[in-house]
Amino acid sequence: MSVEKIDTLVIGAGQAGLAMSAHLNRAGVPHLVLERARIAERWRSERWDSLVANGPAWHDRFPDLQFSDVDTAVRPDDFPHKETVADYFVAFAQKIAAPVRCGVDVLKVERLEGRTGFRVETSLGTIEAQRVVAATGPFQRPSIPALVPEDAPLRQMHSTAYRNPDQLPDGAVLVVGAGSSGVQIAEELMRAGRTVYLSVGPHDRPPRAYRGRDFCWWLGVLGKWDAAAQEPGKEHVTIAVSGARGGHTIDFRRLASEGMVLVGRTESFKDGVLSFAPDLAENLDNGDANYRALLDEADAYVARNGLDLPEEPEARIRVPDAACITDPLATLDLKAAGVGTIIWATGFVSDYSWMKVNAFDANGRPRHQRGVSTEAGVYFLGLPWQSRRGSSFIWGVWHDAKYIADQIVIQRSYIAYHAAAGAAPDATAPHAIAEVAPA
Ligand SMILES: Cc1cc2nc3c(=O)[nH]c(=O)nc-3n(C[C@H](O)[C@H](O)[C@H](O)COP(=O)(O)OP(=O)(O)OC[C@H]3O[C@@H](n4cnc5c(N)ncnc54)[C@H](O)[C@@H]3O)c2cc1C
Repeated sequence: MSVEKIDTLVIGAGQAGLAMSAHLNRAGVPHLVLERARIAERWRSERWDSLVANGPAWHDRFPDLQFSDVDTAVRPDDFPHKETVADYFVAFAQKIAAPVRCGVDVLKVERLEGRTGFRVETSLGTIEAQRVVAATGPFQRPSIPALVPEDAPLRQMHSTAYRNPDQLPDGAVLVVGAGSSGVQIAEELMRAGRTVYLSVGPHDRPPRAYRGRDFCWWLGVLGKWDAAAQEPGKEHVTIAVSGARGGHTIDFRRLASEGMVLVGRTESFKDGVLSFAPDLAENLDNGDANYRALLDEADAYVARNGLDLPEEPEARIRVPDAACITDPLATLDLKAAGVGTIIWATGFVSDYSWMKVNAFDANGRPRHQRGVSTEAGVYFLGLPWQSRRGSSFIWGVWHDAKYIADQIVIQRSYIAYHAAAGAAPDATAPHAIAEVAPA
């Protein structure tokens, strides 16, 4: 049976796979994009119903396509609904005529023996590719800490499985994790009339907007999107932002004053009782310090550059602490508190076990430099902090894709030279030995 051959195979048709396709197109590199489900599937089926983008439409997009080109109702400062984001990527794929094949699961990638390239086993047969770009997502598999047994008498789900308040059994809800997903879900549930406990760990919380500019703009002009690495010690600090209800700053003290019960980091579970670390005040203080630092940097930027942006002293008003902050819960008896659901907004892990190549460290994490892996011909795209803070975001992946395309073009030029120059005589080949052997 003949095996399909392709120069460059891109795995995954989310934003990363499509950005890759766009840059490979521009560079004239023949390629194919395989997607196990649909284009931008995660936006369709792994996110809750009301989710909108965390960044405004003018910012969280590719340079070549505006959101308003896809949906005329979307204005530049809007936060597009998740379905609109998915539609945007479908429209982008159509615009660039991306060679995407949907419904094909890549099961295994391994190096070919004795010749260049890779054998790629898929749910629809084998493909041979000279190069492989894994664009399978920064957030692949839900991660739930092994704290509460699965058979505990309440519903447990990861944030990827949450859809809306009506989906949950009656009762209070504990949301563990206060990054953008956790805090948005918790707020939605509180506004739907639920009693909500929110377990808050270390976090950054930029202002949604300050002095008339969105935080995406501030992070851009202050050079923070381009930061090459996380500050030491901040590796486990999540970021809490929201575009919900037109966008608003996440202020945990305000949420507590409105009735949300904040607790510290969830630490352990025994006999139906959860225990929390005594770190709530510290986490909130650090989040506030991060918030104020950005206001300070923004003010300094305005002054330095003589910008005409309105002052906003009210952004520095601190909401008085609710009782859950001054006298935090150390434990929670789930049954006594009527908790019917725990939502784990605790992040994701990656799984590259299907890639049988020399591109991973002992913990299975990609070994790479800006996405160029330690296995020649294998590239990654869309990794968190691949080259900068912006790497896993819609606008940021575009630039990393361009870099990877450049690297692929460089490697192809070496192969092209080799082909044009003709292969050098191989001294070990039988005919070569015959030529030099004495008569
Ligand atoms: C709740 C949430 C909200 C977010 N909001 C924003 C936002 O507002 N703005 C922003 O810029 N970023 C946002 N992000 C971050 C980021 O933009 C998204 O995570 C985005 O989905 C990443 O795109 P990707 O293409 O890198 O990966 P993914 O979207 O995960 O795409 C990878 C694709 O690969 C496919 N795939 C995986 N394995 C295989 C395989 N073996 N074979 C074939 N196909 C495979 C998957 O089906 C998937 O479609 C958000 C993330 C989350 C979790």
